[in-house]
Amino acid sequence: MTRVVDPASGDVVGEVGETGLGEVDAAIGRAAGAFEGWRLVAPGERGRVLRRFAGLVDSHLEELAQLEVRNAGHTIGNARWEAGNVRDVLDYYAGAPERLTGQQIPVPGGWDVTFHEPLGVVGVIVPWNFPMPIAAWGFAPALAAGNTVVLKPAELTPLTALRLAELGREAGLPEGVFTVLPGRGDVVGERFVTHPAVRKVCFTGSTEVGTRIMAGCAAQVKRVTLELGGKSANLVFADADLEKAAATAPYAVFDNAGQDCCARSRILVQRPVYDRFLELLEPAVRALRVENPAAETAEMGPLISAAHRDRVAGYLDGATVAFTGTCPDGPGFWHAPTVLLADSPADRHWREEIFGPVVSVLPFDDEADAVRLANDTEYGLSGSIWTRDVGRALRLARAVQAGNLSVNSHSSVRYWTPFGGMKRSGLGRELGPDALHAFTDVKNVFISTEE
Ligand code: NAD
Repeated sequence: MTRVVDPASGDVVGEVGETGLGEVDAAIGRAAGAFEGWRLVAPGERGRVLRRFAGLVDSHLEELAQLEVRNAGHTIGNARWEAGNVRDVLDYYAGAPERLTGQQIPVPGGWDVTFHEPLGVVGVIVPWNFPMPIAAWGFAPALAAGNTVVLKPAELTPLTALRLAELGREAGLPEGVFTVLPGRGDVVGERFVTHPAVRKVCFTGSTEVGTRIMAGCAAQVKRVTLELGGKSANLVFADADLEKAAATAPYAVFDNAGQDCCARSRILVQRPVYDRFLELLEPAVRALRVENPAAETAEMGPLISAAHRDRVAGYLDGATVAFTGTCPDGPGFWHAPTVLLADSPADRHWREEIFGPVVSVLPFDDEADAVRLANDTEYGLSGSIWTRDVGRALRLARAVQAGNLSVNSHSSVRYWTPFGGMKRSGLGRELGPDALHAFTDVKNVFISTEE
């Protein structure tokens, strides 16, 4: 049994059984059997089931959001957005089965056509930081393309995924098509990697575990999508709208208490406006409402666990703290939003993914310096560029190595556009049409017209 703890209070809010190896194998076996039926369901009917699923998420939106507040410590405002995102992702992919078309390619002596074939059983492995959306980014396109899904939520946050599975069954997903298996990464997750009937692993989590999963999948040439860590740059040029850049910078890193793979946790400011930017940033950070995440006014909640809070706090040892916001003393796992001044790009807090409400600031000289510093990281997930110079914005949009960039904005996620990382931030793309295709193999068929 795993105890689920409310990060805001430390209270136990649920107990969930851990799936053992035998049960995982049985669930994968049922998913493999269900695949033979689900792949042949008419595209329109597959879409209708997913649309009903979206409708049920919509009618249970508040219940799901309140559950996520207790499950993961998310602010109620964020949790409502996340439940809404699950609905939107399901609704978007509900329209996909009828549009999953191949090509007809001109060839001599016959016809050449392609099909997008579903892969089979897909294993989706989800982290604790966004339990609902990240689950849906995996299961919705996988199901739409005709695959069946076994999904493992993170040990710390299984409650909302289990509720989503119930809604899926209520929507009419046949037995075995979508199964949530709570349990340990090294038991359930690893079995997805080693079981020959699982044809793809869709993993979101740390770069360390993702690397192991990719190596394991290689043994069976198993498909893999990896959404991993990040250390994204927020580049502020002297010609930017400084007020807007500073007012939005806290949201860009402290949202979800910094437990966000897209967090812009390295702020780079052009030297002439460096002091002014910090002057503007300070009141914005101090004004952040860090409080009980169930409160309608909460802008930031607690960290996921005591162990994670202590790990985050460790990054402050020996670092230069510019200023901090406030947070409750406890109970619960709180850490104040904190702004650090980097002495050099070699600083540990500048280089490593902290995954908490800590941001590092460093000045830069010119455009070339900005690009060099932004790219001086093993990661490449997201980033922001603040400038009023259109030419510069376009040059940097190409030069900064990241899968998701925004100019004069911090927006990273729209369910109909691709999302994913470069370098050690991952492999493959989620959301949009790219994700749908990533859950299929292309089959090419030649039909001779010779008499
Ligand atoms: P984690 O890697 O520890 O765990 C992620 C999931 O993998 C969990 O469900 C865990 O149980 C499972 N797991 C652990 N060991 C496993 C194994 N040996 N085999 C199979 N599965 C295993 O990550 P976390 O601490 O839950 O999440 C934080 C990390 O996730 C951060 O690095 C963050 O950047 C990353 N993340 C990335 C994205 C993205 O889209 N790029 C999104 C969210 C989070």
